[in-house]
Amino acid sequence: MLVVMQHGATPEQVTRVVEVIKEMGYDARPMPGEQRTAIGLVGNDGRVDGSRIEGLPGVAEVIHVTKPYKQVSREWKAENTIVTIAPGVSFGGKEIQIVAGPCSVESEEQIVTAARQVRAAGATALRGGAFKPRSSPYSFQGLGKRGLELLALARAETGLPIVTEALDEESLEQVLEYADCVQIGARNMQNFSLLRAAGRARKPVLLKRGMAATIVDLLLSAEYLLAEGNDQVILCERGIRSFDTMTRNLFDLTAIPLVQRLSHLPIVADPSHGTGLRDKVLPMGRAAVAAGADGILVEVHPNPDRAMSDGAQTLFPEQFTQLVREVRAIASAIGRTVAEPAGTAASATG
Ligand code: PEP
Ligand code: MN
Repeated sequence: MLVVMQHGATPEQVTRVVEVIKEMGYDARPMPGEQRTAIGLVGNDGRVDGSRIEGLPGVAEVIHVTKPYKQVSREWKAENTIVTIAPGVSFGGKEIQIVAGPCSVESEEQIVTAARQVRAAGATALRGGAFKPRSSPYSFQGLGKRGLELLALARAETGLPIVTEALDEESLEQVLEYADCVQIGARNMQNFSLLRAAGRARKPVLLKRGMAATIVDLLLSAEYLLAEGNDQVILCERGIRSFDTMTRNLFDLTAIPLVQRLSHLPIVADPSHGTGLRDKVLPMGRAAVAAGADGILVEVHPNPDRAMSDGAQTLFPEQFTQLVREVRAIASAIGRTVAEPAGTAASATG
């Protein structure tokens, strides 16, 4: 439930509403706005009787949030949430961000080369896993803490902020020390203790859709993060399992406009995991931007044939350069722009 205060309601009137909500056994989240203050009621799992609140002084309106997810819904907050992972790198506004890099961090040379290549092509953030969720326990599991150190080195070399995955609460602590944005992967979308821990952290989170998750499941998982106080959440469509084995996943691009209607959170798309096929990443990366994604997440490796994970869906640097060029054209056709890496505009204008 959302209590909208009248324009010019006094702080005392707001405090009184908060007190009554608490007396009713719920939590209150005051949200001062430019026009007027709203107070969110959280902690309910069904409709709340608002009659006690409707009559309080200063209350303009009581809105019942009809969806099972509350704080992530557009009913709760009408305007887009802008998630900033580093100065100038924001998701959810007019600019589209491009996050690129290898599936896994493999060595200093690999990640620094990849970072330089994707930055030169126009990426605005670097991705790369140090902790890898692999289907087989015998597959490469990532370099762990050393991988995080190498990502920090690549950031120092290129200025690109880092998006990297936390697998569990233990790795989350380490990832928080290094990352600019914490990725929670598809397999962990419903790891509720990890979501709660990431919700208590004060770093942006990129939450990927689980491979068998509905859109409501995705939004409810995001709700865990917001319920713990972290509203810096970027959602990510990365494909869902289907009966068809032609592609690794079924890349559900309808999710983009659907989520944008239902939630104020930004949503990006990952055509690499979404298709699993290198030659399908370009067309589907273009399609994701055309569908309205606030960014794309793309796997790129200096030498994809030697990649220790996900090589088959990983772009060669030249292909990535082409993708960025093409999505820029698409962005301008729909009234958006693709963000430039930090410092590029300044150096371009001398
Ligand atoms: C990844 O980004 O490399 C990854 C493991 O993604 P997902 O969780 O979507 O499978
Ligand atoms: Mn991968």
